[in-house]
Amino acid sequence: MTSSERPFLNRRLAEFGTTIFAEMSALAVQTGSINLGQGFPDTDGPEEVREAAVRALRDGRGNQYPPGPGVPELRAAVAAHQERRYGLLFDPDTEVLVTAGATEAIAASLLALLEPGDEVVALEPYYDSYAACIAMAGGTRVPVTLRPHEGSFRLDLDELRAAVTDRTRLLLINTPHNPTGTVLTREELTAVAELAVERDLLVVTDEVYEHLVFDEAEHIPLATFTGMRERTVTIGSAGKTFSFTGWKVGWITAPPALVSAVRSAKQFLTYVSSGPFQYAVAEALALPEAYFTAFREDMLAKRNLLSAGLADAGFEVFRTAGTYFITTDIRPLGESDGFAFCRALPRRAGVVAIPNAVFYDHREEGAPFVRFAFCKQTPVLEEAAARLKTLGA
Ligand SMILES: *Cc1c(COP(=O)(O)O)cnc(C)c1O
Repeated sequence: MTSSERPFLNRRLAEFGTTIFAEMSALAVQTGSINLGQGFPDTDGPEEVREAAVRALRDGRGNQYPPGPGVPELRAAVAAHQERRYGLLFDPDTEVLVTAGATEAIAASLLALLEPGDEVVALEPYYDSYAACIAMAGGTRVPVTLRPHEGSFRLDLDELRAAVTDRTRLLLINTPHNPTGTVLTREELTAVAELAVERDLLVVTDEVYEHLVFDEAEHIPLATFTGMRERTVTIGSAGKTFSFTGWKVGWITAPPALVSAVRSAKQFLTYVSSGPFQYAVAEALALPEAYFTAFREDMLAKRNLLSAGLADAGFEVFRTAGTYFITTDIRPLGESDGFAFCRALPRRAGVVAIPNAVFYDHREEGAPFVRFAFCKQTPVLEEAAARLKTLGA
């Protein structure tokens, strides 16, 4: 093959050429649709946190390369947050690493911890960067499918156990789970932890929605379970919790040897990022409990509004216990192909959603499911619900 015949994108990434989000967001603009596809809030986070960023910038804090592991103020704030909320003790100097959002934390963890050929067991449907990062690291993904059971998507623990082989290096867990809204229960997490200990696996756990749990659901970090702290990389992010997704401030907490490994990869990805924003996020993490409660209640009202609207429009609506996404089943509307449905929805109803199939290896498993984001202003959700109601007509 000559260089002009050979595709530019390498084989590892060929299947990840373009994301559905670009296509759907372009469709939203073209058709003037309400975009409930991509999960970003349409209002900014707390004013005092924004002001803290302005202050840091004006005071010349973080305008030059911050320290590789993150600014000490933020590492201390992350450690204090983990202790206050979960009783988890981490040394800010050796057990916390600041990253360019959770996205870099995921990439650096997988690039650092995997050898080519290592298997990674991940919950399917999965956040889109997992598959690409496993591929970049030369790993092999082994999806375990969450399936509908009594109104929400659940993990089959026997399937999880069966997915682990002698080549498995790592479990990649996400709770609260995007896109299904599932929050793993104490029983499920106990089983995950027992399996990890029994098979001596590393665990990378994406907990960026830790503050977005509703009703009776409780977020319990995997690192709190017996035998887990020493084998777990926990990923957090300011983007979702404080509604500043553009700032790209994330972090990991893990024992020193794991932090050191992940940092080795991270230093050659971005080295450092988001200087002044790191100081602002340090202040945000120390906000009084009232902030987190109000944020959760606001999002809960939005979940209720959009869930009711979707049910009214004829979708089967799965219970969202956490995150800001609702997964629906389109079969009650006489549809079965989420891709076709989502491509047509902007012109049919003026709303954009995402076909869950893009988050599956087993595309057929995800075919009838469609995801809507509810992190939008109330009038926007009301208008979306009104538009969707025309679907049945
Ligand atoms: C949004 C999201 C991320 C990325 O977080 P950033 O901090 O914006 O990089 C990672 N994991 C999940 C499950 C997400 O939904």
